Amino acid sequence: MLDRALSFRLPAARRVVLATLAIAVMGCANAPVAPSGGGMTPIRASERVYYVQGAGGMATPANAAFNSNAAFVITDDGVVVFDALGTPALGAQLRQAIATVTRQPIRLVIVSHYHADHFYGLQSLAGPGVEIWAHEKARATLASEPTSSRLEQRRRDLAPHVDAQTRLVAATRWLSFAAVREFTFTQGGVQFHLIDVAGAHSDEDLMLFIDGDRVLLAGDLYFSGRLPYVGNADSKAWLAAMDRIAPLAPAVVVPGHGAASRNPTPDIALTREYLRYLRETMGAAVRDLKSFDEAYAQTDWSRYAKLPAFQAANRINAYGTFLRMEQETLAR
Ligand SMILES: [Zn+2]
Repeated sequence: MLDRALSFRLPAARRVVLATLAIAVMGCANAPVAPSGGGMTPIRASERVYYVQGAGGMATPANAAFNSNAAFVITDDGVVVFDALGTPALGAQLRQAIATVTRQPIRLVIVSHYHADHFYGLQSLAGPGVEIWAHEKARATLASEPTSSRLEQRRRDLAPHVDAQTRLVAATRWLSFAAVREFTFTQGGVQFHLIDVAGAHSDEDLMLFIDGDRVLLAGDLYFSGRLPYVGNADSKAWLAAMDRIAPLAPAVVVPGHGAASRNPTPDIALTREYLRYLRETMGAAVRDLKSFDEAYAQTDWSRYAKLPAFQAANRINAYGTFLRMEQETLAR
């Protein structure tokens, strides 16, 4: 029902957005395009893979909510897009950015997970001939109360970038996975591996690996050159997901936020070690019935203290893990 309603509404909305965009582009034709300035320049990750990179930090009206990445793969038969960015206008700009690199039409959009910063652009990418794939568990996420209150919050805090015209778009195909939790598909001569890592960062995480180019599109499970943001993510499932990244030996990893990594091995190692360390130290504190404050003060953080985002994220990560370890202990 939602799909049908949207496909009737879309063309007019898209024309308006593109007209606005055309004016914006003409107005600054000679100005250098900065990622945070609303312009969007594709960055080449490999022969067939490009991505656009949002500003660091939170989505704000000042950065037009462009704080996440989207990637696209040019095949011999159409373009495969991974993630749709955080507003309808950004989705439209992504479409324009793709058109600067190829005349191929978008055939498929895969959503890494149904968090606002990764899928609100879908309404500008959806349409006839475009398939949208997401994990079957995203169906429940899309229908959930937190998802609708998040939309209300963004309409308030990110106006006019998210407003009454912003619609949450369902996938055209909800993917179910067998026990192996991955499958291979081919589009336009390019082989893709779609990997189910649901439960690691959200209930419905997907990663996409492009075989020939050895590029991994990792969504929010991968952080490069900074301390990961863990919060109260399920670090056990996340570690299991990292175990599946390592054997792929990707040459390039494009994360959901921040720059792509062309030397992913140290980043993968850092995330794994850090998650293990959080679980080990906070797990021991829970077993010894220590308070969180006591445990945090007694833990040696020196290995991580110099990394970017340590001040902003470490205490929250430790606290989220502390609560997780309590739950895991009680569940035993
Ligand atoms: Zn994100």
